[in-house]
Amino acid sequence: FVNSVEEFFTFCEENDVQFVDFRFTDIKGAWHHISYRYSAVSAELLENGLPFDGSSIEAWQPINKSDMLLKVDVPTAFLDPFTADPTIIVFCDVYDIYKGQLYEKCPRSIAKKALQHADELGIADAAYFGPENEFFIFDDVKFVDNINEAGYKIDTEEGEWNSGTAYEDMYNTGHRPGTKGGYFPVAPTDSMVDLRAEMMQVLEQVGLEVVLGHHEVAQGQGEIGIVFSDIIGAADNVQKYKYVVKMIAHLNGKTATFMPKPLFGDNGNGMHVHQSLWKDGKNLFYKEGEYGNLSEMALHYAGGIFKHAAAVAAFTNASTNSYKRLLPGFEAPSILTYSSQNRSAACRIPYGAGEKATRIEMRFPDSTACPYLAFAAMMMAGLDGIKNKTIPTGPMDIDLFELSLDEIREKGIVQMPHTLREALEGLIADNDFLKPVFTKDFIDAFQHYQFERQVWPDEGRPTAYEF
Ligand code: GLN
Ligand code: MG
Ligand code: MG
Ligand code: MG
Repeated sequence: FVNSVEEFFTFCEENDVQFVDFRFTDIKGAWHHISYRYSAVSAELLENGLPFDGSSIEAWQPINKSDMLLKVDVPTAFLDPFTADPTIIVFCDVYDIYKGQLYEKCPRSIAKKALQHADELGIADAAYFGPENEFFIFDDVKFVDNINEAGYKIDTEEGEWNSGTAYEDMYNTGHRPGTKGGYFPVAPTDSMVDLRAEMMQVLEQVGLEVVLGHHEVAQGQGEIGIVFSDIIGAADNVQKYKYVVKMIAHLNGKTATFMPKPLFGDNGNGMHVHQSLWKDGKNLFYKEGEYGNLSEMALHYAGGIFKHAAAVAAFTNASTNSYKRLLPGFEAPSILTYSSQNRSAACRIPYGAGEKATRIEMRFPDSTACPYLAFAAMMMAGLDGIKNKTIPTGPMDIDLFELSLDEIREKGIVQMPHTLREALEGLIADNDFLKPVFTKDFIDAFQHYQFERQVWPDEGRPTAYEF
């Protein structure tokens, strides 16, 4: 790993690098890249940035103002473990040449501004994030020709199926975990041991600090635990993590998906996000002797996130599918309370974590979020909560999945939005807390894109269940 432009070139020479792969993230969290021949990469290019067409990225620039620059973040460079020729990948920020500043629609730049904002407020000089991205591993679908538009396989020689069940039965060896039965029988029921091992090793090669891997609760579901990092590092890690998990699955003839709720009736994929604010090397979220050893500031931070939950969800739960996960019974929360040890609450406080590790875990986000935007939005809501001393609902130490709708209403408990539309309407109605960092133009472009690409097409489509 490199610290300077000079070290970058030494590293490339030592590794016989042939290509430099410049990467940036769009507003839906997709990673994009441009590969340069190593011979065409100079210190000046790294210094000045490289030009690309900003109009080809959804919701970014109009065609008549499409010239943009990628500004290279040299210390993020690492070798791509998957290319045939030695290739070095490097993270970039998008630069707006018309305004002469970081681009207001570049998620990575927005996350940078959010941390700056916390510092300027005098609240925190560091923010740590620990995302946990769950995924499913599916067998690659073999009969691509017979997939209809809705994604269901039709009229194969083996007969019809439309939910995946019959297909699984055809290949059933008897070792599959049942519904919600994956957590944690050993092999052969857990058939992903070697796959996860390979993922964990490659994740380390690309610089992530890997702790553990395990089968998750649902069939074919897994998770790999990574050490937390600062806001940008943690979001960069999510991009690397998804890339490695998907690539290792792909190279083994499987498909990995981070989709929040791929299977009806079984657990979905979350991206729980552990968070704490720090100042002068001290954890601001820790206060010994309080409930969960949590400071008042930590509670206000959670209060801010709950207060702005609908708007925040537009970023943390960024797909129509996201809201199918947030239903009682699958360890994914819908009820906005905090609680120690309680996996039915939106905010869990891990038990007995100690001074350094005390943190809150927001459990509602999922991996359809662009990590930079999700972390920045939660932090902006949290900072707003700190400024206004917002008190969150809780603690509620009961099984919240058992609460009836009547009880929820009686207790006045606020819930997560139930649809992407609700979240986006929440964002349109309540975004002043984001304004210091998310511009009006960006919020407009984001919500408009989400309505056009997700909400409206989804609302108009009959589902298999409706038939
Ligand atoms: N899969 C659950 C979710 O959707 C979490 C389960 C777990 O981590 N134990 O958030
Ligand atoms: Mg976990
Ligand atoms: Mg998990
Ligand atoms: Mg968790």
